[in-house]
Amino acid sequence: MPELPEVETVRLGLLDCLDNFLVSKVLVSTERSIASPGGSREFIQELEGSRIGKWIRRGKYLLAYLHEEDDKTSSISAISNRRGMLGVHLRMTGYFQFLKEDLGACPHTRVRIWNRQGSELRFVDTRNFGQMWWVPPGNPPENVISGLKHLGPEPFSKAFNSRYLKQRLQSSRRPIKSALLDQSVVAGAGNIYADESLFKAGILPHTQSNKLSDKQLEALCKSLKDVLKESIGKGGTTFSDFRDLNGINGKYGGQAWVYRRGGQPCRQCSTKLMKGRLSGRSTHWCPRCQL
Ligand SMILES: [Zn+2]
Repeated sequence: MPELPEVETVRLGLLDCLDNFLVSKVLVSTERSIASPGGSREFIQELEGSRIGKWIRRGKYLLAYLHEEDDKTSSISAISNRRGMLGVHLRMTGYFQFLKEDLGACPHTRVRIWNRQGSELRFVDTRNFGQMWWVPPGNPPENVISGLKHLGPEPFSKAFNSRYLKQRLQSSRRPIKSALLDQSVVAGAGNIYADESLFKAGILPHTQSNKLSDKQLEALCKSLKDVLKESIGKGGTTFSDFRDLNGINGKYGGQAWVYRRGGQPCRQCSTKLMKGRLSGRSTHWCPRCQL
């Protein structure tokens, strides 16, 4: 499943490809892909004629500001979204393609968005859990995209620090790995980066959340930011169906410390890495480096 670095990679790709993209035609092949109240009818109606502006990311959600056709890109601020917003969640297998010519659509093509020049932004999703929303102007996106309401702080924000984690986890007896996967604790981390950041912080994934020392919490905040930043720099990870807009996999996975490396030697101490299940998720750790 795409996590924060993969979604951030997609955001950068969208910013790059969709500069000044004026939507002239929208085709929705699967009704289920459109999650906003008016369904595909309203989605198509409102998107057509809109100019796609800046893309932002919140957790694993992507949001684009929509502007009037005659708004000039240079003068439009993010808030002058007179046509509302476009929201996207890739879920398990969703990804975008940007095509400059008309290539036949594969059976997993869910939504196609063209401009007048015939360039196409295509949303492809094998498992079909991905979602898109149209948010009416003047509405905070969380009014339409309910998942946004429950998101914790962004890992790179000032609000995410060891003091916050301590307070948030002080009465939590669940394993720290499970807490990291909880989007209401911190937005955007998932299985890969939870395992990786716990390794870098030297913390066993099974440790009871409220038993972590201040020093460990501090190390964890830092290591989570570090692994996310490093992965963004590499375009996300190679695992899963993730692709960027040019169909390219990220490069983080090849150098993971522990993720999917159970049975192999630890890159730090050569001890055989462990693999197990924790709260239903595959979990990887070093029995020597993590205490
Ligand atoms: Zn080790």
